[in-house]
Amino acid sequence: MSDILKVEDGQVVAMDYTLRVDGEVVDTSEGHEPLEFLQGVGSIIPGLERELYGMAVGESKKVVVAAVDAYGEFDKEALVEVPKGEFPAQVPLQLGIGLEVQAQNGETLHGRISNIGDETVELDFNHPLAGKELHFDVTIAALREASDEELLHGHVHGDGHEH
Ligand code: ZN
Repeated sequence: MSDILKVEDGQVVAMDYTLRVDGEVVDTSEGHEPLEFLQGVGSIIPGLERELYGMAVGESKKVVVAAVDAYGEFDKEALVEVPKGEFPAQVPLQLGIGLEVQAQNGETLHGRISNIGDETVELDFNHPLAGKELHFDVTIAALREASDEELLHGHVHGDGHEH
C-alpha cells in the first residue's frame, strides 16, 4: 500500500475542480487541463488546501470554505464614496463597471461601481468573492513528488517553465 500516493506537503497535485458561489459556477477546470500546484505552500486558498490532505488519485470531495478561509470577510472600509465630478468622462456610470485606481503607494487597486447616488458614486474595492462561501467539487487527477528544485522555488515547474 505504501506506493499509493496521497496528498501531503511537497507533492505536486493536479486537480480538477468546479467552484460554485450562491449556486452558480464561477470557475472550473472543465474543458482545461487540471490545476497543478505544490501542496503545503499556500498556492491555493488555505481552506481548500487543508481539506486535500490524504486524498488519493481519482478521489473526489465536496469542500465548503467559509469566507474567512477564502477571500476574506466583506470589508466596509473598502467601500469608497467618490464625487461624480471626479470621474473621468470615459467611465460609464453603471453598476458593476470595473475600474483600476492607482493608489498613492503606486499599487493598482481593482474596484467596481457598487452604488450610484445623486452626488456620489460608491466604489467597492473588496475582492469580488469577499464575504462569499465557496463550494468546491474537486477530484485529484494526478500526484507526484515535487523535485528538489520545485521545493526550493515553492512552485511547480511545468512545460516551458525552466529556470
Ligand atoms: Zn521555479
